[in-house]
Formats: sequence, C-alpha cells, structure tokens
Amino acid sequence: MNLNNLNNLKDAENNTERMPVLFVGHGSPMYAIEENEFTRYWQELGEIIPKPKAVICISAHWETRGTEVTAMLTPPTIHDFGGFPRELYEIQYPAPGDPDLAKETIHTIKGTNVRADEKWGLDHGTWSVIRRIYPKADIPVIQMSLDYNKSPQEHYDLAKELALFRDKGVLIVGSGNIVHNLRKVAWDKADDEEYGFDWTLEANDIIKRLILTNKHKDLIDYNLLGKEVQMAIPTPDHYLPLLYSLALKNEDESITFFNDKAVMGSLTMTSLKIG
Ligand code: ZN
Repeated sequence: MNLNNLNNLKDAENNTERMPVLFVGHGSPMYAIEENEFTRYWQELGEIIPKPKAVICISAHWETRGTEVTAMLTPPTIHDFGGFPRELYEIQYPAPGDPDLAKETIHTIKGTNVRADEKWGLDHGTWSVIRRIYPKADIPVIQMSLDYNKSPQEHYDLAKELALFRDKGVLIVGSGNIVHNLRKVAWDKADDEEYGFDWTLEANDIIKRLILTNKHKDLIDYNLLGKEVQMAIPTPDHYLPLLYSLALKNEDESITFFNDKAVMGSLTMTSLKIG
C-alpha cells in the first residue's frame, strides 16, 4: 500500500469516527430517577452512538459571567434543585473530568476568552441524562457554561469552534428544553405521559421545521418567531444549548428527532441527534 492509499484509509477511518452531536431535552429532575419512555431512549443512545473518548456538555443549568469549562479531575455531582425526594439527592454520578480536554478547549476557542473552572462539577442538566447514556460513569465529562452576557449569535459562533472535537472522538451534548416555560406548567397534568398546550405544540413545530431546513439564522433570532415561540422561550437558558448543537451541524448531515413529546403543558422533551 502506498502512502496515498494509507492517507485515504486514515481519512476514511477519521470520517467514521466523527461523532454525532446531541441536543437532549432533560425535563423534570424527577426523570433522573424515574423510568419512562424518555429515559429509556437515553439508555438506547449509549448503544446507538460510538463510544466517545469524552463528553462536553452544555447544560441549561450553568450560567456564568464569561464562558467557563470544568477543569477538575473529579467533578462533584451537583444537586441543583429544591423540594424533591431524598432519593434524587442521593444520586452520585462519579464520571471523571478531563483536565486535558478542558485545556484544549480553552486553547481552541479563539473568539472568546474561556476560563478553567474548579468549583462547579456536573449539574443535573448533565448527569440526569448522561448517567443513563453511560451508566458505568467510565467516560470523562466536562461542562461548558453559558455566558449570560452573550447574545444568541455569539453563543452560536462560539459553538462552531468546538466542531473539531467531533473528529477527536468527543461527544458534544446540549442539554435543555426547546419549549420550557415553568410559569405556565399545568401541574394537574404533571403525571400525564403527554400533555402540551396548543402554543407549546405550535412553537415546537415551528422550531422543528426550522431545524430540518437548516434555518439557523431564524433560530438564532428566535424572538422574531411570533408569540408562541416567545411563550415557549421566556428565558434563553434552556434554548441556548440547542443553538450549540445546531452550530456543529454540517448542512448535509441528517437529523433524527427523538422523545418528541410535550409534557406538563409547557415543556417539550423534543431532542435530536445530528449525524
Ligand atoms: Zn432544566
């Protein structure tokens, strides 16, 4: 085999190693301990997706001034919620961190200054989902924070700089919810398997259509998408992780939706796999 062939072969290998990207709707913290159709699909993801070297998770639940990445060797499990059963507070997800990957992320991203964090860890936006995908906690996980001073466009541009990690065996996961309005939750429907208000379903459909047609600019300017979408996204925290995932999509890559259901009236669990 000559060198050219060898290089071609290497390229092919690299292509097959390109990791997909996920956006996962995480929903209620209770899903971390409940078994339902959403959590069953999270478990399946662990079998569908090639085993990654590490995970970078952008969770709705870590907002900071400036962008940070967790850089500790053993990130603590953070129980960042109140008023739930003791069982939920007892969950530990002892996945290791990856200080080298944190450093590489800091060096790779040029458009903004990224800082190493030693205080956070894994919040429930990350562990409630990742512990189902990788229950052995044998894949290193780092988190990247959401800078609350950045515009949606700035978040999207920053996310694009993470693209090369897909070719290095890193699984990038955005964890939030497309429709997420806690003020409008239908508590009387909290135990129903599926329930969404009309505006919830409408907003979810509008956003899904734009995702499928690669209309990322419209998704970045989501405030202009009408009153249903404004109701669906009263604050950007749970929506922005979706922009991180979409920014990593090549135009010709396929999208698979999963867990595409509304719950508690004003939330959707709609999730997607890119690639
Ligand atoms: Zn959440």
